[in-house]
Amino acid sequence: MIVMKFGGSSVANAERIRHVAEIIKAYKGKRPVVVLSAMGDTTDHLLEAAETAVKGTVDIRKVMELHEKTQKELGILPSPIVDLQAELQQLLTGICMLKELTKRTRDYLVSFGERMSVRIMAAYLQKEGLPAQFYDAWDIGFISDSNYMAAELDESVWRLIPSHLDDYKNGKNDAIPIVTGFIAKDKEGHITTLGRGGSDLSATMLGSAMCAEEIQTWKDVDGILTADPRICPDARPVPEVTYEEAQELAVFGSQILHPRSMVPCLRTGTPVRVKNSYNIESPGSIIVAKHTQKTNPVCAITSIKNITLIDIVSTRMIGAAGFLAHIFNQFLKWNISIDVIATSEVSVSLTINTQTNLDGLVADLKKVADVNVKKGKAIIAIICDVASTSEILAQGFTALARNNINVQMISQGASKVNISFICNEDQSSDVVKILHKAFFGETR
Ligand code: ASP
Ligand code: MG
Repeated sequence: MIVMKFGGSSVANAERIRHVAEIIKAYKGKRPVVVLSAMGDTTDHLLEAAETAVKGTVDIRKVMELHEKTQKELGILPSPIVDLQAELQQLLTGICMLKELTKRTRDYLVSFGERMSVRIMAAYLQKEGLPAQFYDAWDIGFISDSNYMAAELDESVWRLIPSHLDDYKNGKNDAIPIVTGFIAKDKEGHITTLGRGGSDLSATMLGSAMCAEEIQTWKDVDGILTADPRICPDARPVPEVTYEEAQELAVFGSQILHPRSMVPCLRTGTPVRVKNSYNIESPGSIIVAKHTQKTNPVCAITSIKNITLIDIVSTRMIGAAGFLAHIFNQFLKWNISIDVIATSEVSVSLTINTQTNLDGLVADLKKVADVNVKKGKAIIAIICDVASTSEILAQGFTALARNNINVQMISQGASKVNISFICNEDQSSDVVKILHKAFFGETR
């Protein structure tokens, strides 16, 4: 058995859905379980509709038109989603009347995207003569806590999913399960979501719980690449990546997978393969627990822009115990998360990626320290085998020095697979190019 996950852009319209159906057909013999996101930008459009509803207007045209057009083009009328459409309309009317949107209602609202896409896909596969059955995730055991918009799946999921899908795995039931990504229900039966991009986690959870042969996530590129191809046109696929490397890649700006999606796999060792839907034959990249082949010590270079660097130098409490504790407490108080950090006895340099609450935070920090806030920075991360640190640092920084790039803060070692540093945002693309050339050869 395998799991095949397709994201929003893979099912963005009728043509793409037909293409996905062809891919599913090609893997029929592997007993696939399919996990789908909402069509295209439907999740965003639902959230927009919610905002308009709070302001007093119910307008769900964008979402309805896309789904109606798609059903028509796929020839799957009468519509498999009429009931959902009516319920969605009703919900928005409710939001409009109350002029209020709680997190719980928000999750209920965005769940319609995934619920509609699985119904459309299952109906189309059936029309094409392939037995298929759609499931809302909770129908096959996706139970979560009640932390709306960022729910955690419950431990019972490991037992519940197989109890629902074992018959399919063992060949007693032939209908290919088409399952909603992203959503679950809490123990009270309210709909929850696993956070934006959460369909990846749904897929890896499902595959791990079912001890699948492989979890495939289908993209529009040849797997995980050595850099963003928009910055480095000669970025190339990385054949093999570890869970830990994939996690760091996700955190540090690669769009390839949701950062939390590796968690279930870490427990079972289920391999994840990132495949290109435009190049089915290509093996893509495989994500595994430990490297099985000798690879380049550098896996990939990533960057994140719009970063703020904060330098904090102790004044009052020089050398005193509790300086760091005091500093970190202010971040906790203002609910600001720290990304990269480097410290010395009396100073701390760290980065954040939000402006929200920044003024309040800085005012509090200034009570005990000199604080210097520098906006417009970027984090560059070299995802690599830290066992070769000296060599990688030497090679990378020699290349940067030759190009007069001044690095402003370095953090290395906490993660065993990541060396990250800060530079000016307007230099970040150049930095990625220089490093890519240094580690992977000439940029064409
Ligand atoms: N549809 C959801 C989102 O856009 C979940 C996903 O695509 O993974 O965030
Ligand atoms: Mg999406």
